[in-house]
Amino acid sequence: KLSKRLETVAKFVPTGAVVADIGSDHAYLPCYLIHKGVATRAVAGEVVKGPFESAVGQVKKEGLTEKITVRLADGLAAVEAADKVDTVTIAGMGGPLIVSILEKHPESLRGVTRLILQPNIHAKVIREWALANNWAIQDEAILEEDEKIYEIVVLQRGSMKLTEAEILFGPKLMLRKAPAFVQKWTREKQNWQRVLQSIEGAEQTPEIDEKRAELTHLLNLVEGL
Ligand code: SAM
Repeated sequence: KLSKRLETVAKFVPTGAVVADIGSDHAYLPCYLIHKGVATRAVAGEVVKGPFESAVGQVKKEGLTEKITVRLADGLAAVEAADKVDTVTIAGMGGPLIVSILEKHPESLRGVTRLILQPNIHAKVIREWALANNWAIQDEAILEEDEKIYEIVVLQRGSMKLTEAEILFGPKLMLRKAPAFVQKWTREKQNWQRVLQSIEGAEQTPEIDEKRAELTHLLNLVEGL
């Protein structure tokens, strides 16, 4: 059974999509998408030999070798023009790694109309990248699984405007204020308050002053929710 996290990623894949799942590990997501009749074909990309072999094995075991191509490649280099991929999923990595993957082979995104990204941490950098590269947030999700909170950002081509708070919290997520969202930012707020208190009595150096200003600023943003 697929994790709730990957199941939520799968929900954003349009019916009839040709999907590339980058950093696919066991290729669970592409296998699920084909079995469900959501994707018509898929590419599973992996840069590490072990997970690549797991993906090859899983696709064989599920009898999906006709529908899913597994490639050992760095990021979007797994995608070839002839694949006609229109949807890319990248899940289970940090935001900065996801962004570096998106930036390294921009030519692979030429025919792509939807990106479904699930950063484990620092979703903010994904929104910043989208803003700077003419992708717009179509939808977002936040969920809790095994005591971890995950965000999903769904992008389509287009321009958007985001405030600083929207970049940090997610424009859709901050409107909906789901329980996982409230939990995440309550936790973050407590961390920031703790750090701020710990440096309260500290001597005044430019570094500490800067840290204090940054934390105060973040606390103001979270108070504004
Ligand atoms: N996507 C799956 C999921 O969400 O459950 C697997 C997540 S796993 C934590 C991250 C995977 O990404 C690892 O298998 C790793 O080898 C792969 N990976 C990391 N950097 C990559 C890159 N540049 N290109 C392709 N795969 C990469």
